[in-house]
Amino acid sequence: MSLERRKTPYFGSVRFFKHLILATIALLIVVPIAVSVALAVQNAALRDSLEKLREEISQPASNQMSTQPVAQPAGTPQMEVEIPLWQESFPELYAQPAQRGSINEEKVIYLSFDDGPSARTPEILDVLDQYDVKATFFVVGKTDTQSRKWMKEIVERGHTIGIHSFSHDYETIYDSVEAYLADFNDMYQFIYEATGVQPQIFRLPGGSINSFNADSYQSILAEMLRRGFVYYDWNVAAGDAAVTKASSTRIVQNVLGNADSIRRAVVLMHDSVDKYNTVEALPSIIEGYLEKGFTFAALTPEVVPIVYTYPD
Ligand code: ZN
Repeated sequence: MSLERRKTPYFGSVRFFKHLILATIALLIVVPIAVSVALAVQNAALRDSLEKLREEISQPASNQMSTQPVAQPAGTPQMEVEIPLWQESFPELYAQPAQRGSINEEKVIYLSFDDGPSARTPEILDVLDQYDVKATFFVVGKTDTQSRKWMKEIVERGHTIGIHSFSHDYETIYDSVEAYLADFNDMYQFIYEATGVQPQIFRLPGGSINSFNADSYQSILAEMLRRGFVYYDWNVAAGDAAVTKASSTRIVQNVLGNADSIRRAVVLMHDSVDKYNTVEALPSIIEGYLEKGFTFAALTPEVVPIVYTYPD
């Protein structure tokens, strides 16, 4: 019996199965590689567009935006990216890194004094020391030797010194972002020179939004936040501003009136030469809050800000 050498068909042959196995192995290797390459490309594109979006968000929206053309490589369509010029002024004027927003404790009172220093500053400091209370002073540009000493004392006695403004002139500082920045920088440098402290927090004269800055507050706040500075409005006011001339009893009532309904508070008070009533009211204010179980602290950039709600 002779074996007839028969020509076997390719399909179903050993060779066919060999090829099939090799093809399958090749697919198992090639397909995952192709898929991961495709995903990587897609991820990179997504990252790029997120990056772009983030940059856009960090640019303050403004109708007073200055524009500067950005050089494009030859052959690409002409595009103009808007970068406000004020971002380049005062290149050293940035806050130090901080864990912003990490302190949000309940039952804490942040007493704050605007417009100082003044002849009332040492009296306020004495009352605060008496109760071992730390507070915050948002100071203005008083350049005489005595005022510098008071500023230094604020710092040395453990309180926070913040920027209120150099000039406290609403019309000047709220005229433009550039004007605000120039005034802010003056005060920043002045406080640094007088106390050795680089202030990290600020309060805008009249609060963060007022009738003088309706057109400029968005750009001003965006720029200051971009530079890392933290600002605080208030949710309790002593009502001791110049025009009202409140009695010390009235001031105590103003400050303690809603003590039962507040979770935490930044209290606005004033430190200027005629504010005897504020100094007189201070012990009752501190005792009143202590009785209700509050503690006191100085503001730092870590404290969650209390700010106004803004119109849409
Ligand atoms: Zn003020």
